[in-house]
Amino acid sequence: MKNPPVLSVLQRQQALEKASFSRKKRAAIKIQLKNGELSFRDVLDLAKTDQIIAKMRVRELIESVPGVGKIRAAVMMEKLEISLTRRIQGLGVHQLNALMREFAVPSSSTRRGKLIVLSGPGGVGKSTIAERLRSRNNFYVSVSATTRNPRPNEREGIDYFFLSRDEFLTKIDNDEFLEWAEFAGALYGTPRAGVENSLAQGHDVLLEIEIEGARQVKAHSSEAILVFLQPPSWEHLVARLEARGTDTPERRAQRLALAQEEIAASGDFDLVLVNDEVENVVSRLVSLTT
Ligand code: 5GP
Repeated sequence: MKNPPVLSVLQRQQALEKASFSRKKRAAIKIQLKNGELSFRDVLDLAKTDQIIAKMRVRELIESVPGVGKIRAAVMMEKLEISLTRRIQGLGVHQLNALMREFAVPSSSTRRGKLIVLSGPGGVGKSTIAERLRSRNNFYVSVSATTRNPRPNEREGIDYFFLSRDEFLTKIDNDEFLEWAEFAGALYGTPRAGVENSLAQGHDVLLEIEIEGARQVKAHSSEAILVFLQPPSWEHLVARLEARGTDTPERRAQRLALAQEEIAASGDFDLVLVNDEVENVVSRLVSLTT
């Protein structure tokens, strides 16, 4: 094997900066795709003139399409005989055309997606349900923006978009949220673009939000189905919040007080489901989309 070139300190530094810039650029493109700000086709078009995007792995591109998770991406790539390590620039014409067909925007005769809003007290298990719907049932699960600090295991653009209060307020002014609300001292909001584009493209959409936001969504879109998730018992909820261990005792007490208020408001919802068994809840939610 040829020896690698000997780089000066400056050249090494420049190479590292270039790699970091490319990674950030690809990450930003994936977020725009997830948000619905860019379509699959837009990214392929950009890759024709942008070397950084052309070097993105096809697998990462497909996984970032709303409603497609890791499993569906792997199945699709196997079906189209595209290697999991292939980059966009390495795709053949037939593979490109086949991918375009998979992600073609359906014609206007296609059904509009269903909008399901899932609320319920913190700790009831909404995120587990949302993750199942996203990865196994092709739901577009909206990623919210929030001004609260990230928890240790949370990732930007995947769990939330973490914003400063000023950034959040600017987005409110620009009408970028479908709904937003203050909860336990932080602001939370649903980015509008991803939800509206996904519904128009026929994807079923799940919002996992607190009750004030759920009411706002219903006020604007009467077709939204509001579902309230109840814990099997109050003791069950307290135990789950304590086991989480990510909140201070004061914060936990605040969350429990909010949970009591939320449970009292469940009568405003179209449907109340008890989270006794994740699979039961998931299949009830899927049945609402047909
Ligand atoms: P957590 O801080 O535990 O992630 O979320 C606190 C509460 O905010 C949960 O009830 C969660 O469903 C809700 N929430 C998350 N994202 C949004 C959003 O975009 N809008 C509203 N209104 N509530 C949200």
